[in-house]
Amino acid sequence: MILGSIEAGGTKFVCGIGNEQGEVLERISIPTKTPDETIPEVIEFFKKRKVEAIGIGTFGPIDVKKSSPTYGHVLNTPKLAWQNYPFFQTVLDELQVPTGFTTDVNAAALGEYQFGAAKGLDSCLYITVGTGIGAGAVVNGELLEGLSHPEMGHIIVRRHPDDHFEGNCPFHKDCFEGLAAGPAIEKRWGKKGIEMTDRKEVWEMEAYYIAQALVQYIMILVPERIVIGGGVAHQESIFPLVRENVKSLLNGYFTHQELNENIADYIVAPGLKDNAGLVGGLVLARHALEEEG
Ligand code: ADP
Ligand code: ZN
Repeated sequence: MILGSIEAGGTKFVCGIGNEQGEVLERISIPTKTPDETIPEVIEFFKKRKVEAIGIGTFGPIDVKKSSPTYGHVLNTPKLAWQNYPFFQTVLDELQVPTGFTTDVNAAALGEYQFGAAKGLDSCLYITVGTGIGAGAVVNGELLEGLSHPEMGHIIVRRHPDDHFEGNCPFHKDCFEGLAAGPAIEKRWGKKGIEMTDRKEVWEMEAYYIAQALVQYIMILVPERIVIGGGVAHQESIFPLVRENVKSLLNGYFTHQELNENIADYIVAPGLKDNAGLVGGLVLARHALEEEG
């Protein structure tokens, strides 16, 4: 089975070909310009390879409500050229194969659930901490969606007592993303995260925020595993700090081993490394094919 996958990001589109075992056989990267410039290149790649189905995981916000007249459109993104772009419909019209459509983080959650760090479980949550913060959750094998896809990066967190950075979310200023995404780290400390790998205070503050968010996700969704991906999570020293902060915030409320002595197996890095989104797109493609058939 030849499946296609699109991981659409703010700087690049990663397009891949793979199979139902989640193996990526070929991939290319196309710069994200305007839809008129980028999409024809994407379509050409897949047309040549005769994919049987395709899955799209994209930056958002997007309309994921199948009954909506604007299903599959990009919504009010700051990337103005993409606002109201009928992403799903364009790909479907051009390739005429079953097409799955969701957010980048939902796709990554599906990838990790099926083939990565959460393989064999019934639920998981995937969070990316990168240029922005977003998360997707799989609950009993299904992506969690309601009116929209979740927006778990924009929750409210308690401020670190030593943090005087005002926050940079254009909507909420000091929401979780406004305080803890890569650009917030850079603005607060005046340097990129990667240049501050040995600055303990930077990563303690970062872990303080990430842990609060995870505790809220745990309290509401009780996922069976949490996977943290994205550029900021390349700073591996945050993992033990996040786990310690989560345990201390939970304060023994849950008695499950996963949230106590086994927390190192509960809050983990992506099993698929930086391929979670692309592999998730293959899973989406297969789902779309199954729904059709
Ligand atoms: P995007 O979110 O655009 O898809 P990434 O997930 O790669 O991209 O995240 C980019 C952000 O991650 C940038 O703000 C960058 O400074 C930060 N970043 C990348 N590598 C590291 C690292 N090793 N340590 C800390 N921050 C990093
Ligand atoms: Zn916000």
